[in-house]
Amino acid sequence: KQRVNIDLYALVQEVLALYALKSGAVIQAEQDKKRLSINGDPVSIRQVLHNLLKNALEATEGHGHIEIDMHRMQKNNSDFIEIGFFDDGPGIKDEQIEQIFEPYVTTKAKGTGLGLAIVKKIIEEHGGAIWVDTRRKQGAGFIIHLPAI
Ligand code: ADP
Ligand code: MG
Repeated sequence: KQRVNIDLYALVQEVLALYALKSGAVIQAEQDKKRLSINGDPVSIRQVLHNLLKNALEATEGHGHIEIDMHRMQKNNSDFIEIGFFDDGPGIKDEQIEQIFEPYVTTKAKGTGLGLAIVKKIIEEHGGAIWVDTRRKQGAGFIIHLPAI
């Protein structure tokens, strides 16, 4: 797969634009958007955003609030981009959290249960990590870390 420099802010906006008629989303991001760059496969990263957005839209039945936070951070002298992906749907039950990244785990009548398994695989292929934000008291939240460039 091709690895190129990806402007995450632009990519998020591009994916959100595909859904513009269905839902408004709030983006919180660095002032300097150039600081939100990663090296990776844009097709795969677009797939990640699409899968998370699809889940958020399904959870909120298309008229909830979605928030995407993008910030550059530093840990042990290496820079990474933290992407927070939040919705105000019913959220994810504690007992579900351990399984949702497994393939074929779905609570939807016509779900495939593959969306989050694919997301996790792509993020890990990019040297990153994803987890459910368990500090949230309302809605669902996912946190992604990806190495920055
Ligand atoms: P699918 O969407 O086909 O069910 P996913 O792998 O995308 O498969 O998601 C797995 C399960 O995780 C969903 O069926 C749902 O129970 C839960 N889930 C994922 N995202 C959310 C969300 N934003 N809010 C609530 N539950 C979610
Ligand atoms: Mg899904």
